[in-house]
Amino acid sequence: MIISIPKEIMEGENRVAVVPDTVSKLIKKGFEIQIEKDAGLKAGFTNSEYEENGAKIVEDVNLLYSTADIVLKVQRPLERKETGKHECDLLKEGSLLITFMYSLHYPEISKKCAEKKINVISMDAIPRTTLAQKMDALSSQANLAGYKSVIITANTLRKIFPLMMTAAGTIQPAKVVIMGAGVAGLQALGTAKRLGAIVEVSDIRPQVKEEVQSLGGRFIEVETDESMQDESGYAKEASEEFLQKQKELIFKHITQADIVITTALVPGKKAPVLVTEEMVKNMRPGSVVLDMAVEFGGNCEISEKGKTVQKYGVTIIGEPNIPSLVATNASEVYGKNLMALLEHISKDGKVELDLEDEIVKGALICYNGEVVHERTKSLLS
Ligand code: NAD
Repeated sequence: MIISIPKEIMEGENRVAVVPDTVSKLIKKGFEIQIEKDAGLKAGFTNSEYEENGAKIVEDVNLLYSTADIVLKVQRPLERKETGKHECDLLKEGSLLITFMYSLHYPEISKKCAEKKINVISMDAIPRTTLAQKMDALSSQANLAGYKSVIITANTLRKIFPLMMTAAGTIQPAKVVIMGAGVAGLQALGTAKRLGAIVEVSDIRPQVKEEVQSLGGRFIEVETDESMQDESGYAKEASEEFLQKQKELIFKHITQADIVITTALVPGKKAPVLVTEEMVKNMRPGSVVLDMAVEFGGNCEISEKGKTVQKYGVTIIGEPNIPSLVATNASEVYGKNLMALLEHISKDGKVELDLEDEIVKGALICYNGEVVHERTKSLLS
């Protein structure tokens, strides 16, 4: 089967689906690889590196798509500005697209793919099971984003992180508050601790308390009788009453923080508002808020997607795609996730989808001209 890797066209996207090292591994598995010219440049990989690893460089985008049995991408299909053609219209009928579709947020694109009879596996829908761990691209990207979020905010803050005792006096450590202790939040916690900050973390899932404490964080716990975690380990959408209680509890912590990093997401839903305008107003001038949930509605009431703004003396960063800022590593690990998935669903360079397989069942969005992913289907009906 021929695998094509197009250049990502979403603004600000520096990642590429497959890096040269993964190309040679895929070829060993029996696939033929073709990649769009310059697709890897923004992630730090040259055309000649891809060629040396056995990929064919293709300049003609129509040819790249029309000859592909499988297309590997990072972002959902979009319109290609230079040709005015939507990527869905370039893909061949019956081909398989593997990418981050976020179909619960953008169900219409899945519908378009189904109408075009393109089969789609979405990397954000891979079940978070032990068997699928190697394919868990949400985790591989969130982990890097968590690290980078601390570096960005540390660089913006006009203070240092660690306690320093000097002849000129003692410098107090910076205070970091992290909202959401998922993969990104826990990596942010570890990174901020290594830099010497005092870190407080809040999550609605009390199950994460021990993890937070073992990484040296203080856990801000909202007492509740509600069960906040679903059977797959994800957060449930919290009630208004819970969110109100949470806001009252975290007010003091947020307003005393130098840095607030918010990572709170509920799959398929708008992100909960945790940092209100009132809280920002009461933060110290010079403090920094980074809203990692800005792509899905934002955890901070006054963050702006794609912008860094100053409000009430506070810098609010609304960077929607932090993994793209560490595109080299993000592409390396994403490519490995794709490779693991392809190994799981193929034999001798040929993909055969077993619709009863748990991983395929969870992540298959479109198949044979239909949207088959139940939650996406219900959003479309
Ligand atoms: P996520 O990105 O969906 O959400 C980030 C965090 O925000 C979560 O911890 C969530 O509980 C929290 N959150 C939601 N609403 C909140 C609120 N109102 N206030 C504070 N926090 C709030 O999470 P994720 O990083 O994708 O992880 C989701 C789950 O998947 C976790 O249980 C994680 O341990 C699990 N997981 C399992 C595996 C595996 O077994 N292979 C791998 C990775 C993650």
